[in-house]
Amino acid sequence: MDRGYLLHEGKAKRIYTLEDTEEGEDFSRDHLLVEFKDSISAFDGEKIEEISKKGVLNNKISCSIFSYLEAKNIPTHFIKTISSREMLVKRVDIIPLEVVIRNVVTGSLTRRLGFSEGTYLKEPVVELYYKDDELGDPLINEFHIKNLEIATEKEIEVITKMALQINELLVPYFDQKDLILVDYKVEFGKDGDDNILLADEISPDSCRLWDKETLKILDKDRYRKDMGQIIESYEEVWQRISGGE
Ligand code: C5P
Repeated sequence: MDRGYLLHEGKAKRIYTLEDTEEGEDFSRDHLLVEFKDSISAFDGEKIEEISKKGVLNNKISCSIFSYLEAKNIPTHFIKTISSREMLVKRVDIIPLEVVIRNVVTGSLTRRLGFSEGTYLKEPVVELYYKDDELGDPLINEFHIKNLEIATEKEIEVITKMALQINELLVPYFDQKDLILVDYKVEFGKDGDDNILLADEISPDSCRLWDKETLKILDKDRYRKDMGQIIESYEEVWQRISGGE
């Protein structure tokens, strides 16, 4: 399966169209190829670095999580892993919302609302941010979203419900691997029939994952906070997800 042209390059991924078709199937129109890069960034791209092998690990981790969610009937864009750093996905129009789901208090929630760091929330919190780099991805509500025509009331309802369903699956998934799923960001997209699918990636770049026993941070916060051992931590997450594959 060959790459066509570069459709979009983000901070951590490149999205390509597909050049060729597989026997009997036209993969070229409705599918895209996603390549995970080794770049890591924080603070709206103010801090950027290359970390060898990060893209390979995020591809493996994200593909495993998406396969698990698909098997549990969550509609996603994921089709299959193509190579060490590439996956094949359904083509969707990304809804410009960063949907953050929180189980334990940390990060911007501590700063914004004064909750105590490390407290387990009584129930998961879903937050919606407007995905717009120039505006600094602001937190927005349903009224803003409808006025900006980002999504309809019904779509916001579907997205929120899916986010909570995903969380109900992923908290025990990580718990079985002795990891606490503290919080994470997901994105959704719409396919040609207006179905809402989970899109983008789920990896240590977009999640906060702590060791259940020691509370050791095993995610991108190690990069944000200059804690070192970044790739070792991503590798640790992969070892636990794959059961040491
Ligand atoms: O910074 P904050 O506490 O709001 O982040 C919540 C969660 O969303 C974290 O897991 C973080 O990694 C993720 N996130 C992300 N991309 C962003 C903002 C937050 O992956 N642009």
